[in-house]
Amino acid sequence: MRIVFIGPPGAGKGTQAERLVAAYGMAHLSTGDMLRAARDAQTEVGRKADAYMAKGELVPDEIIVAIIGERLQQPDCRGGYLLDGFPRTIAQAEALDRMLAEKNTPLDAVLELQVPEEELFRRLAGRGRADDTPEVIRQRLVAYRKQTEPLLEYYGKSGLLKSIDGLGSVDEIFQRAKTALDALPG
Ligand code: AMP
Repeated sequence: MRIVFIGPPGAGKGTQAERLVAAYGMAHLSTGDMLRAARDAQTEVGRKADAYMAKGELVPDEIIVAIIGERLQQPDCRGGYLLDGFPRTIAQAEALDRMLAEKNTPLDAVLELQVPEEELFRRLAGRGRADDTPEVIRQRLVAYRKQTEPLLEYYGKSGLLKSIDGLGSVDEIFQRAKTALDALPG
């Protein structure tokens, strides 16, 4: 299966992503994890990306698209993958469509985790990651609303979007995600 996993920062995407890739044997492609690894390794891409990440802004599309383009060539992606945190802009979604059309490997679904904004702020404030100061959290939510939310309409139109309620226990949410994925054709 080839799945895009979409949801605001603090929705619990990382936790669910790990369970889903284990359950379905998909590769886990988290652009946030890739960027943090590049930043910690102090590569040129990592240094560039850090300037945006530290402010809660999105890293420029061309950097992200290049990283994902390379990652999708790796052999483990042949067995399917979960894209976690990518695409985050319409331009990224269009670039992904082009890459997948070239390979003749369309997406199976776009899974959206829905969580109300006040709950997100509460969860993010409790998480304590270095990029989780109140101002950075606010900026990341703004970036989600402005740049990423338009993807819901984009994928809604293509019929790929499956939205699930992101409130409840980790197990409850995982069951909802599984029910949505198990109902996919093929
Ligand atoms: P995440 O762990 O997915 O919340 O990502 C952490 C940070 O990495 C984000 O706040 C962005 O600065 C950057 N980032 C991750 N994925 C992307 C993406 N697809 N496009 C742009 N920036 C991204």
